[in-house]
Amino acid sequence: MPTPRCTHHWQDLDRDSTIAWQGQQLHRYLRDCVLPFSLHYQRLFKERGLTAADIRSVADLSKIPFTTKEDLLPTKENPKRTLDFVLKPDPKVLSRRLSVILWALRHGREQVRDELDHEWRPVFMTSTTGRSSEPVPFLYTQHDIARLGLGGGRIVEIGGVRSEERMVNMFPFAPHLAFWYMYYAGMDRNIFALATGGGKVMGTEGNLRAVVKLKPQVIVAMPTFLYHVLQQAVEQNLKLEGIRLLVLGGDKVPDGTRRKLGDLCKKLGSPDVQIMATYGFTECKLAWTECPITPGTPPPGYHLYADQGIIEIINPETGEVMPDGQGGEIVWTPLDQRGTVVLRYRTGDRCENGITWDPCPCCGRRMPRLVGKISRVSDVHSLRFQKVKGTIVDFNELERALDDLPELGAWQIELRKAHDDPLDLDELNVHVSPATSGNTAGIEKNVRELLHAHFELTPNKIVTHTEEEMRTLQKVGVALKEQKVVDNRSKASATERSGTAEPFRPKP
Ligand SMILES: [Zn+2]
Repeated sequence: MPTPRCTHHWQDLDRDSTIAWQGQQLHRYLRDCVLPFSLHYQRLFKERGLTAADIRSVADLSKIPFTTKEDLLPTKENPKRTLDFVLKPDPKVLSRRLSVILWALRHGREQVRDELDHEWRPVFMTSTTGRSSEPVPFLYTQHDIARLGLGGGRIVEIGGVRSEERMVNMFPFAPHLAFWYMYYAGMDRNIFALATGGGKVMGTEGNLRAVVKLKPQVIVAMPTFLYHVLQQAVEQNLKLEGIRLLVLGGDKVPDGTRRKLGDLCKKLGSPDVQIMATYGFTECKLAWTECPITPGTPPPGYHLYADQGIIEIINPETGEVMPDGQGGEIVWTPLDQRGTVVLRYRTGDRCENGITWDPCPCCGRRMPRLVGKISRVSDVHSLRFQKVKGTIVDFNELERALDDLPELGAWQIELRKAHDDPLDLDELNVHVSPATSGNTAGIEKNVRELLHAHFELTPNKIVTHTEEEMRTLQKVGVALKEQKVVDNRSKASATERSGTAEPFRPKP
């Protein structure tokens, strides 16, 4: 079925009529696309005695059980379990639909067959990066690829990027959402964009050369990688003038990081840079953005696309849906996807202040926004520093605190076992390098004080490094993502959390 480029007016929304529209769309989507063609949801709805007729409003969503990460993992009995979530249309069912019949009468059977094939046949995939489990593939049809452009294009639009401007996309080249989303963003909005493939493809040096040559106004990157590229430019006394917008994804962007990136741009000759942070994840095949802001301004929250899906905020303990303005776990339901589809997907990400429908303080757009810090539940760890009890450490907060320390540049936290004995206590080492090279005075002391005062942590070692040593430690240009937290506690099954993280998602 030909799909309109934008299914709903997306920028100037009235809360109640939008939620009413979403309810109707949800019902139609379940009736026409998901339930006839998704093995998993057919089974689930049958078990619960539900049909599409039971779901006619956003409030009715709560009748549908959540889908979790575990539901997507392969089992012994079902090694290709994710395929149960891929919509597989039955040509017979489609050919009986009145709309398809009318369409065939007008345009001929051949064309209809071709169009349906474009709408439903998976031709592309991205995958999760599986830190603790197998990577999970998410399939796209041409219908979904068009929405990559639509969603990415809106990021470019909210960023006010003009068609004569140039973008450099430094997201890592991989079957991951971020790289492709921003690739299609440029295509959709007809903007010149060079995708360097990030550090692993071209190194910091190659990315720097690309920026020097192309003189982009807009740079799209993961924050830590961009920090290293700009820091290296400063070391080389380069001038990079005319950069006006940094679009960041793949990790948290604390205020301190924004300030440090802004300062580096200033040193390089681009004093008025603005920064926008994005948030997205593989399972929703979309990412959203904040408005561009000057470093130091409070972040205004991520503009959500109400025509593309529904975000619920739930109480992670009870599963109850939270009212507007209250924090909780982010849950995703699409309204117009083909390929792999998950309903009420629990992200494991918590948003501090939930959803607001108030006009954005920066741009005035009336779209729902996700407001406040986003953290990952899986980044809260119990560490054993003493024989008697474990210490609960929220790495979301710990990493933000380190990023916010003004004199600290790049850093790495290393967890290990004392004496390399798996049964022994945990040890925590912090590797640091100064924000301004040569200015190392007091850094170790300040880091020690910060960890003690706010986290009751006493690191075993704090080691100061040069920028270059830090780039090696973080595996800049080697790993897909810079390694800011390295867990060496179970060397046998070494899990390097930061190294396998998923671009766009804040935090790993
Ligand atoms: Zn805005």
